Amino acid sequence: MKNKEIAKIFYEIADLYEMQDVQFKPRAYRKAAQNIESLGKDIEEVYEQDELGNIPGVGESIAEEIVEYVETNTVERLEKLKKDMPIDLRSLSSVETLGPKKIKDLYNELGIKNLDDLENAAKEGKIRHLEGFGKKTEENILENIAFAREKGDRFLLGYVLPEAKEIVEKLEKKVDKIELAGSLRRMKETIGDVDILVVTNKSSKIMDYFTNMDRVEKVIAKGDTKSTIRLYGGIQVDLRIVKNESFGSALQYFTGSKDHNVKLRKIAQNNYFKLNEYGLFKKDARIAGKKEKSVYSKLGLDWIPPELRENRGEIDIAKKGNIPDLIKYDDVKGDLQMHSKWSDGSNTMVEMVEESRNIGHSFIAFTDHVGSLKVAGGMDKKEWEKQGKKIDKLKEKYDDITIFHGLEANIKKNGELDISDSFLNEAEVVLASIHSSFRMDKKEMTNRVIKAIENRYVNILSHPTGRKIQKKEAINLELDKVFNVAKENNVAIEINAYPERLDLNDVNVKRAIDQKVKLSIGTDSHRKDHLRYYKLGIAVARRGWAQKIDVINTYSARNLKKFLNK
Ligand SMILES: [Zn+2]
Repeated sequence: MKNKEIAKIFYEIADLYEMQDVQFKPRAYRKAAQNIESLGKDIEEVYEQDELGNIPGVGESIAEEIVEYVETNTVERLEKLKKDMPIDLRSLSSVETLGPKKIKDLYNELGIKNLDDLENAAKEGKIRHLEGFGKKTEENILENIAFAREKGDRFLLGYVLPEAKEIVEKLEKKVDKIELAGSLRRMKETIGDVDILVVTNKSSKIMDYFTNMDRVEKVIAKGDTKSTIRLYGGIQVDLRIVKNESFGSALQYFTGSKDHNVKLRKIAQNNYFKLNEYGLFKKDARIAGKKEKSVYSKLGLDWIPPELRENRGEIDIAKKGNIPDLIKYDDVKGDLQMHSKWSDGSNTMVEMVEESRNIGHSFIAFTDHVGSLKVAGGMDKKEWEKQGKKIDKLKEKYDDITIFHGLEANIKKNGELDISDSFLNEAEVVLASIHSSFRMDKKEMTNRVIKAIENRYVNILSHPTGRKIQKKEAINLELDKVFNVAKENNVAIEINAYPERLDLNDVNVKRAIDQKVKLSIGTDSHRKDHLRYYKLGIAVARRGWAQKIDVINTYSARNLKKFLNK
């Protein structure tokens, strides 16, 4: 699917127009981009059926550019705009706080074209003097450059996974065996490149197919047993053909992590074995290799789920036969954070409910913004009650899914919530979260959060650390204290499953369950196609060693109600 690439191009065109102070066009391109992004249908198919004009926001000239991209993989308009504005917009705009207007000012006033220029200017204290910037912005910029650089080489799990799965699906029918390996199989929050292993006796045919897929931007290497391609969007994919008798050991080897494998090899050596990608060998005899499980068992270990392979104690536990029974990808019964058109979401409640039913959820909670968060459409009590009336109707209409009327309240600087107790009391699910004043010292911040979760109406602490991967640092928080108070007050800590959040992260999930605090998975969906991200939340839970019992989304709707009523 080229939907994402085309959306990206239109976003970039919008930004470039905005920098040139062109009216209306930025909005038009952005709108088209958003609608293409959430189309839920392959745009090439739409093109072939001659229905591009039916996509909202896609007029004649934008439709022509979609055709241009589908056929030639470039859009002349973007190339021209880039020539007029010779700056590295993509990397500059990946610096938090820098929008197109600011980037334009930086270019016009200081000639800043890329991240290096930006870093130098900030270090020399030149940026603070520009109108609309100031010392604080300059400090923010410096802090965020590192994140922006990192972003160059690693990609978010949530965006890579569907692309990789699509490739696997295409290859699957043509080969004998196929598996994803690498950090993607471990479901790490960011991915360097995609590794795919296959068994086939049609090596050259498969490699031809792989290197000629229409999503390939560049073939970096092509061989009989290994080829590397780069997809549009920048991600690299390695395809390796291995022998059937080595498939398990190759899978083990290429899944990693490196530290996990080092430790495993040591165990092999201590047993006078040799372990590599071709198998587990005793002298020259292969004693395991076809199946991954037997590689582990011949080493005296339980099979270890890939998500645990980070050398965080999993090998010792596998030796004792005590690998935890991790939460499974189909254990989750519902979603506890989503937004609709009633605040800043793009879909109606009906659309969200329908999609949740398609997924197979048996409960969901609408948790639209309330209170002072006006930029995100924060509702007042009256409006929220009006939403409640609509939800009552939905509850009547759909008897196969339990719908909770919740809300997301803001934690003020002093730890109070920004809506009244009588308002909170009416909600079936109360999420509390920080949306402003992110910079406070650790003690103050910890007290702020603790005060919020001591509020008797709060059920879930949402996106608890506020971090955004490669974009925004976590707030200063003594998490162990927070977990402790959460547990005492029957407040669940959220694993926000939105791709750039994944907050709590894996390491902190482990800390949370060690303290026996309950976890809640919420996709924070703002469009119906975000609802599928709940699996990323499960991945994080698994990487944090969570079991079914640790996650309240695995409860029946009845038991969940009990938990929410405290
Ligand atoms: Zn939020």
